[in-house]
Amino acid sequence: MPDTLPFMPFALPEIGDAEIAEVVDTLRSGWVTTGPKAKRFEDDFSAFLGDASLHCMAVNSATAGLHLALEALGIGPGDEVITTTHTFTATAEVVRYLGADVVLVDIDPATLCIDPALVEAAVTPRTKAIMPVHYGGLAADMPALLDIAKRHGLKVVEDAAHALPTTSGGALVGTLGSDATVFSFYANKTITTGEGGMVVTRDADLAKRIRTMRLHGMNRDAFDRFTAKVPSWYYEIVAPGFKYNLTDIAAAMGIHQLKRARAFHARRAAIAHAYHAAFAELPLIVPPDAPAGELHAWHLYPLRLTDAAGIDRDALIEQLFAAGIGCSVHYIPLHLQPYWRDRYALRAESFPHSQRAFERMLSLPIYTRMTDADVQRVVAAVRRALG
Ligand SMILES: *Cc1c(COP(=O)(O)O)cnc(C)c1O
Repeated sequence: MPDTLPFMPFALPEIGDAEIAEVVDTLRSGWVTTGPKAKRFEDDFSAFLGDASLHCMAVNSATAGLHLALEALGIGPGDEVITTTHTFTATAEVVRYLGADVVLVDIDPATLCIDPALVEAAVTPRTKAIMPVHYGGLAADMPALLDIAKRHGLKVVEDAAHALPTTSGGALVGTLGSDATVFSFYANKTITTGEGGMVVTRDADLAKRIRTMRLHGMNRDAFDRFTAKVPSWYYEIVAPGFKYNLTDIAAAMGIHQLKRARAFHARRAAIAHAYHAAFAELPLIVPPDAPAGELHAWHLYPLRLTDAAGIDRDALIEQLFAAGIGCSVHYIPLHLQPYWRDRYALRAESFPHSQRAFERMLSLPIYTRMTDADVQRVVAAVRRALG
């Protein structure tokens, strides 16, 4: 029976007629790169976060956004940035782009997010910033991390690639007290523009630097100061900037994806809770819910096998694939990746919680286009594999 059903991918974007019509409108408009739709997407994003004092800057990936945020904060050679080993390499690679060093720390096994006590223990005179990741869509312990940052004079850049919408202390990620927050609109994220991201900050100077560096280091303000009228052709290059702007074609998708973010979230949460209920009696650790009253974005649904499961992670993934169900692992921790391991002489024993989680975890499909029957198909396949 399983092989008569079509393969169920691990992730699928949900692109509707409104997104398609807006993209077509953009194509017909003659303005396909950054322009009015990117601006509208940024304005809509501030409105979504509910705070008009935020600067929202659309970029062509979250990786680009993280790079811009750290660059604008002045991170450079000799500096250290603390982040979690249990993340995608993008979180850490941007630190190396700037010639600074990455200090990886372990996770709290209950939340799979960075452990604030280990962050504090890792602070040295060279530490300049902390980069928390809201793993899977659950907020990292932001009150503790912001307190550590304040006491040690550190910057905080949130990797919020999974965290739309996520809350901490009742406030949406993006509006917390960090220096910058970066969202991803990659194809498998909670909303998508194909490729894309958004940098959010309250700091006007930081926003100005990010806007300049997003597009080649171009600036028109110097001219503005001396003349009332800036010729349309005039610009100044104030730094060797990057090419990180989001196209209007991508932003056209984002405008409509954002309108659906709440409905998408409700569907993801319903799938997560259906999984929770189905797996309650099995020898599995289900991902933690957000504390009462908080939002968990449910970008990922990472299961962990217990010793009683009687099957290892690799065998379970093989059986799910054999049943036509795609799944994945989030993440192979950075301390196991050759570049990071060798550069910093990292050993798995230094990251026992991430290591243990990695060895026992797999991420099940969780996306809005899954039907209830799809969810039950995954549940049945997991049950069968666990005997
Ligand atoms: C997806 C992801 C990124 C990178 O996002 P892009 O938009 O693809 O650059 C960064 N960090 C984490 C944790 C991610 O999952």
